[in-house]
Amino acid sequence: MRKKIIAGNWKMNNDISATISLITELKKGITENTKATVIVCPPFTSLETTQTLLKDSIIKFGAQNMYYEDSGAFTGEISPLMLKSVGCEYVILGHSERRTIFQESDSLINKKIKTAIKHELKPIFCIGETLEQREKGITFEVCERQVKNGLEGISESELSHLIIAYEPVWAIGTGKTATSEQAEEVHSFVRKLIEKMYSKNLAEKIVIQYGGSVKPENAKELLSQPNIDGALVGGACLKADSFLKIIDAAN
Ligand code: PGA
Repeated sequence: MRKKIIAGNWKMNNDISATISLITELKKGITENTKATVIVCPPFTSLETTQTLLKDSIIKFGAQNMYYEDSGAFTGEISPLMLKSVGCEYVILGHSERRTIFQESDSLINKKIKTAIKHELKPIFCIGETLEQREKGITFEVCERQVKNGLEGISESELSHLIIAYEPVWAIGTGKTATSEQAEEVHSFVRKLIEKMYSKNLAEKIVIQYGGSVKPENAKELLSQPNIDGALVGGACLKADSFLKIIDAAN
């Protein structure tokens, strides 16, 4: 049985005071009875505050991006060592906003995943097709290419902590969620692909989250699908009550 993992991607939201209020609210709602693993991914500027606030909590945290070098002349970038120094356990890589707005390629994402693993950061590796690609009928092809290129040169043993997040681009921030059948179909495809690329053992263990307009109203239905092991939540993670309802839906 795979444990459900619910992660909140705050994106470019929440200054320090908003970080303190949101995490304080979440801590009240997340107890030993919470079955899912809960992760928050605040912006870089809030990570140190998050570390302090979550010191005695079961809530885990991570970053939304990083560069693949340890240090150097990379103006504006953040290194894996810096993330480690503020206690990050996870890092989101390959998010569609990074791919489209910041032109991140599969090969750049692959370098980042390798570096994250080397530094024992657990990647949340995002994949997903655009609306145009779905309409052209190439959803599986696109996801397969992203998975193969993103994981190129990475061995099975290195993947034990990697999470895949399937996020159809057309469902992100649009209010349009994939139906549970549409999501399940891709999740099951990706799991079979992992089995082909690696082994049945890894395919059965790997966590595949769904992301794209997950809300309290649709979380239960999505999370009840056999191959959907959690959610990567954007908009609905910014309010404690809606994020907590999604977490409850995984119980
Ligand atoms: P959304 O974002 O829930 O606002 O659609 C999800 C994501 O981009 O991770």
